[in-house]
Amino acid sequence: MRIGIDLGGSHIGVGLIDNGEILYKVEKDLQEDEKGTLKIIDLIKKILKTIIEQNELKKGKLDVIGIACPGVVENGIVRKSENLNIPEIDFKKELENDFKGIKIIVRNDTKCAALAEKEYGILKEYSNCAMLTIGTGIGGAIFYKGNLLEGRNSSAYELGHIIINKNGKKCSCGAKGCFEAYASIGSLKEEISNALKLDKRINGIDLVELIKKSDKNDISYKIFEEYIDNLCVGIASICNIFEPEAIALGGSIVYYKDLILEKLENKLKNSEYVFNKKELPKILMAKLNNDAGMIGATIL
Ligand SMILES: [Zn+2]
Repeated sequence: MRIGIDLGGSHIGVGLIDNGEILYKVEKDLQEDEKGTLKIIDLIKKILKTIIEQNELKKGKLDVIGIACPGVVENGIVRKSENLNIPEIDFKKELENDFKGIKIIVRNDTKCAALAEKEYGILKEYSNCAMLTIGTGIGGAIFYKGNLLEGRNSSAYELGHIIINKNGKKCSCGAKGCFEAYASIGSLKEEISNALKLDKRINGIDLVELIKKSDKNDISYKIFEEYIDNLCVGIASICNIFEPEAIALGGSIVYYKDLILEKLENKLKNSEYVFNKKELPKILMAKLNNDAGMIGATIL
């Protein structure tokens, strides 16, 4: 048995997993006062102990605890996880005393989601493929000949920070003109709510409805067309470098499936952005959604 933890900016999900299947799950929204290094570690220990107790997992039955975490992960140490209020955290060191004999893995959350989609989900049949998690930001992962590519020290392949406009919009990473600043669902939400003077907390479902109802002369329609174009520019760069057979899109973009997929595929085909048009990838929507992070966290 394995336990996978998906640690997000506002939510934690912990699952007891056997062969990719979730047998038992605990989910909890994170309040502001529950964030910060010590509090997060205490909370994780408490949830882990409860799961072990309630499922009567005797010594030796649990062999892996995996953690999917936003931010940069370098040699198992999480750095730069700003939305968790964690400057740096070594989960392995923090947990190994309480959970002796259990292998502890820490990985970037998009890489975990990608591993889950590759092993059990929509990317199963493809050996050269990519995954983009598109929500508040954009995370990326690349598989080459079946293997997840990793950087020298860090998880790397931060596809959301490909620069698509050298003097462009400021990105959360500090740079200007990143793909994420133009093609995340966060940026789409911001553009439309600014233009229409809407509440910035507008939820995804309402935004999808608003775009669906808009016609060619509406500002929201124009913003959305521009959004698709930016999405296409970033994806084209990924195609030009890696020539993937398929690209899976996960994160809150899955709610926009009907609005995005066809337009994006047409644009990729008909634009001048892609160098080798004979090898255009299939664009797919992720299958495992919210469970992908915790499942992928436990894959060795
Ligand atoms: Zn950036």
